[in-house]
Amino acid sequence: MNGAVRVSGEVLRYLAEQARREPGIECCGLLAGSGGVISVALPARNALASSTAYEIAPKELFRLFRRIRELGLDHLGIYHSHPATDNAPSPTDIERAFYPEAVYFIVSPRLEVPRPVRAFTIRNGAARELTIVED
Ligand SMILES: [Zn+2]
Repeated sequence: MNGAVRVSGEVLRYLAEQARREPGIECCGLLAGSGGVISVALPARNALASSTAYEIAPKELFRLFRRIRELGLDHLGIYHSHPATDNAPSPTDIERAFYPEAVYFIVSPRLEVPRPVRAFTIRNGAARELTIVED
């Protein structure tokens, strides 16, 4: 592992809580901040309402990006949960990683996993894990 991502403790707690709120459905949303530090989570509706996939409807995605601009923040990441599987990128996550500059957070609702929140960059078909530094 090399590379790190800085995230507020509040956002980290929020992500873990979101994943547990509806443990049968992948939760998802965007992450924003400034100076490379993630300070805000913007939850979205999983348009697929699935336990193994997620999709943010284009209209909602547009609205969230506009909200990030209104807040004067940068889009820094995307999060979703894996209710039943390891919280590492799936082949689909790698294939559909459309934002090479974003950090992809994958959250587990399960309390027994060693790291319920993990972060990755996904570029050119390869995922690399980042160290999460609580800011
Ligand atoms: Zn996934």
